[in-house]
Amino acid sequence: MASLMFTDCSSSTTSRLIHLNRRSGTFLLRQCVGQLRLQTTASGRGCCIRSSSSPISAISADTKSSEGAAIVIDGKAVAKKIRDEITIEVSRMKESIGVIPGLAVILVGDRKDSATYVRNKKKACDSVGIKSFEVRLAEDSSEEEVLKSVSGFNDDPSVHGILVQLPLPSHMDEQNILNAVSIEKDVDGFHPLNIGRLAMRGREPLFVPCTPKGCIELLHRYNIEIKGKRAVVIGRSNIVGMPAALLLQREDATVSIIHSRTKNPEEITREADIIIAAVGQPNMVRGSWIKPGAVIIDVGINPVEDPSAARGYRLVGDICYEEACKVASAITPVPGGVGPMTIAMLLSNTLTSAKRIHNFQ
Ligand code: NDP
Repeated sequence: MASLMFTDCSSSTTSRLIHLNRRSGTFLLRQCVGQLRLQTTASGRGCCIRSSSSPISAISADTKSSEGAAIVIDGKAVAKKIRDEITIEVSRMKESIGVIPGLAVILVGDRKDSATYVRNKKKACDSVGIKSFEVRLAEDSSEEEVLKSVSGFNDDPSVHGILVQLPLPSHMDEQNILNAVSIEKDVDGFHPLNIGRLAMRGREPLFVPCTPKGCIELLHRYNIEIKGKRAVVIGRSNIVGMPAALLLQREDATVSIIHSRTKNPEEITREADIIIAAVGQPNMVRGSWIKPGAVIIDVGINPVEDPSAARGYRLVGDICYEEACKVASAITPVPGGVGPMTIAMLLSNTLTSAKRIHNFQ
């Protein structure tokens, strides 16, 4: 089945990382995830022989697979299931109170990758029945014009979620524009008030950032116990690592965070029952870093050169997959793991927002 040759995790592989703008690269590559789907199945990876999208009885560091192979956490299948659930809820809401959830995107400039992401998002909205709105502004638009669009969507009752597609042109103050998004419609969950509430005990954020939310959702859907477990999050970015650590802590895990200045990351990682890697370093976490039976969520999406691939590159995660799946009890593949969950969580946040605004249970 697999035509993709999964190369080893040697340093020569990592040195051939293709450098793309991280944020825009992520979005561009999300499309590639879909395109590469056929080439990378669980069976194609050699060692990870069990693949399941259905909840499985509690996996933990104590339940290493008897075959010596990790369960593949199928993010694509889980994301589809979630989208099906959202479709049902969207239509129930429409039938009961006549409201259709709406997601608005503001796209400034003509970056191809951003346009692709916006197109994919619109497709995802269409597939579940969420209405999508879009404003496209020229690269040389003023910040005031963008703020005017944000304000228009803030006031529009048919819009329940607002996304400002990043990156914005360099002459604009990104923070200023993001802060203008109404907290009630901040479906990305990046507003400081949402992050602050996420960090505080007894407080609830209105929205949780989509990628970390998707990571935790995968653990839940696979019945992976979090409470009392030792978790290590590698990476502390505002959009993934930091909120992922906060979420794990809220679920009563004992959490360590590894960043670029951490000494002995291998030793710390080896203590973890659950590892979430969001670094942006291809194959950084080797098999020897992993405690037998650990559960691994690999957020990384790294393009590495591959002359045998049609596009000249392929995607790998932050975890050395072929080593890790011999040690771990469960692992997400790249692609097909966390990536599809991110967009599913965006749709979920938009539905939640519409329900909250219209007080619909
Ligand atoms: P950032 O570059 O914003 O953050 C990377 C983090 O990793 C930083 O905290 C940095 O530490 C840390 N780091 C970098 N190098 C090392 C190292 N050698 N050892 C330990 N820690 C290190 O990246 P993002 O959080 O935005 O993204 C991370 C990865 O996840 C990327 O591959 C990205 O493409 C992918 N991604 C995937 C998504 C999906 O939907 N699947 C969505 C978003 C991102 P420090 O803080 O000290 O600089």
